Amino acid sequence: MSEKRRFRGNQRSVTAYIGLGSNVGDRVGFVQQAVQLLKDIPRIKVLECSSLYETEPVGDEYAEWFVNAVLAIETELTCEELLDVLKDIEARLNELNKVVDRPRSPGRMRIIDLDILFFGNEVHGTSYLTVPHPRVHRRAFALVPLLEIAPDMVHPSLGKTVAQLHDELPEPEQVLLYGTRRPDECHG
Ligand code: ADP
Ligand code: MG
Repeated sequence: MSEKRRFRGNQRSVTAYIGLGSNVGDRVGFVQQAVQLLKDIPRIKVLECSSLYETEPVGDEYAEWFVNAVLAIETELTCEELLDVLKDIEARLNELNKVVDRPRSPGRMRIIDLDILFFGNEVHGTSYLTVPHPRVHRRAFALVPLLEIAPDMVHPSLGKTVAQLHDELPEPEQVLLYGTRRPDECHG
């Protein structure tokens, strides 16, 4: 039986939301490459992609602006296995692009940052992995793309929807629609 068929027949799959960000070099290209690498993982099915957003860096006045997006995926992996996959993709993109023409900037530069924002309704906290992501409810760069694809998703420990959390952000950083282009067509 093909991997895809087994995947479809499995009852244990979970819907998770992945945040993607890049703030150096070909930012859109790095986000798109990460989406493609995720689509190539047999036990991950990309369900939906948000638009791309250009966002103000938070907590580092010297950092360059990011390009961010959020993906909805369905997966049979555990959240620890998913984190390992994300770390592996981060490492591969870092390795492939280590000679990227980096502007001289004292701020933090990320070729790609991949975060698990939500993993179903799981609430899980270890030093290695915390879900929901500990800052998802405070970051417009995560909540605005989530608003597009999962406005009614309830944060499992705060008991509020993405739309409510977005409304309640006290001082949201700037989040601008990058364009109508999506990081990838998700259903290919
Ligand atoms: P940040 O994403 O906050 O900029 P990093 O990408 O450098 O920070 O991540 C640091 C570590 O955070 C990762 O190595 C990972 O083990 C841990 N981590 C904990 N929870 C999560 C999560 N939900 N998603 C991704 N990484 C996480
Ligand atoms: Mg991260």
